[in-house]
Amino acid sequence: MKEIRIHRRGAERIDAGHPWVYRSDILEAPDDVAGQVVRVLDGRNRRLGCAHYSAASEIALRMLPYETKSTDVGFFRRLIHRAQQYRDLVVGDAQAYRLIHAEADLLPGLVIDRYGDYFSIQTLTQGMEHAKPAIVAALDELYSPSGVAERNDSAARSREKLPRVSGMLRGEAPSELAVTLNGLQFGVDLVEGQKTGLFLDQRENWSAAAEYAKGKALDCFCYSGGFAMNLARRCDTVEAVDSSAPALERAWANARRNGLENIEVKTANVFDLLAEYGRGRRKYDIIVLDPPAFAKSRRHVEAARRAYKGINLAALRLLDRGGVLVTCSCSHHISEGDLLGAVAEAALDCGKRLRIIERRTQSRDHPIALTIPETHYLKCIILQVQ
Ligand code: SAH
Repeated sequence: MKEIRIHRRGAERIDAGHPWVYRSDILEAPDDVAGQVVRVLDGRNRRLGCAHYSAASEIALRMLPYETKSTDVGFFRRLIHRAQQYRDLVVGDAQAYRLIHAEADLLPGLVIDRYGDYFSIQTLTQGMEHAKPAIVAALDELYSPSGVAERNDSAARSREKLPRVSGMLRGEAPSELAVTLNGLQFGVDLVEGQKTGLFLDQRENWSAAAEYAKGKALDCFCYSGGFAMNLARRCDTVEAVDSSAPALERAWANARRNGLENIEVKTANVFDLLAEYGRGRRKYDIIVLDPPAFAKSRRHVEAARRAYKGINLAALRLLDRGGVLVTCSCSHHISEGDLLGAVAEAALDCGKRLRIIERRTQSRDHPIALTIPETHYLKCIILQVQ
């Protein structure tokens, strides 16, 4: 195995439990190790473990589990098996879930979602891209899947100078794949759907929100209807809003598939629609806000905070005493504190007092590694107007 020496700063980061080494902390690297497993040493030749090396990204090394010798089929079989055991513990009522959540499953740069007998993989680093055949072979051995899709169309691939592609690696794309989550059936498009087909990270928040649901609900940024359908089982009516026509077609079909006749889907820009409803003095009993990430990078944090404040303010105007707001942010760069601050400013601006009912995060199948803050990205706060 080729060796790479890193600066003390990089070694300290690894000692603190974080698996990334930045290019600026590399002291000495051989030339031909792009995508390979390398041994990592500090300047005094202390062995720090093994890592995948990337020749393109600012994150040059991503540490692999300490005992790694190579990322062959057996390695992935062992780690996927361990990840499955954890999912068996935390995933109850779902045929679809995240099986590998990258760094939080000790596999930096690898994401695997399971949809029944189908799998969807993302190899987001040169190392994991290189290991793709071994990853697919391990899935074959463990599950004999009906199909494996790759959703390598994410922007993260560009930073690694990897092409952005999506399609089937094994088997045919199913014409109609359906999975049951929280007792509801969802149609999924593995190749064309947003993310890998469903926002699996919100599944537990769908049921949490449903606990407080009654009367009239508004699901903003509904995608294929995850919140809307979970709320509809307890509400009189649910309005589900999204700007994407394919998402709404899916939401409508999902509602029909589950016999939920009280969901109305609406194509609109949520910002415009909330403003219009505010002028019309509409009221709801529960509102969900689950927008796309407003802060794509650190530079956008201030603008994003303003946007979060803006939509939360517009939603709060539609809630009276007792009304419930379920507000989410999936921006890595917005902390829970930032989101709470934005909602607090919104509440003060419209003269409403709110109590926090729950502070939630991504579903447990997207675990958070204790020493890797980047693995915690989803915030979901449930509040009530007092
Ligand atoms: N709540 C969904 C996931 C939402 S993802 C779930 O739990 O499954 C964000 C959604 O916002 C996407 O479906 C996207 O199409 C939609 N979207 C993005 N910008 C929008 C806008 N300005 N108005 C309405 N919808 C928007």
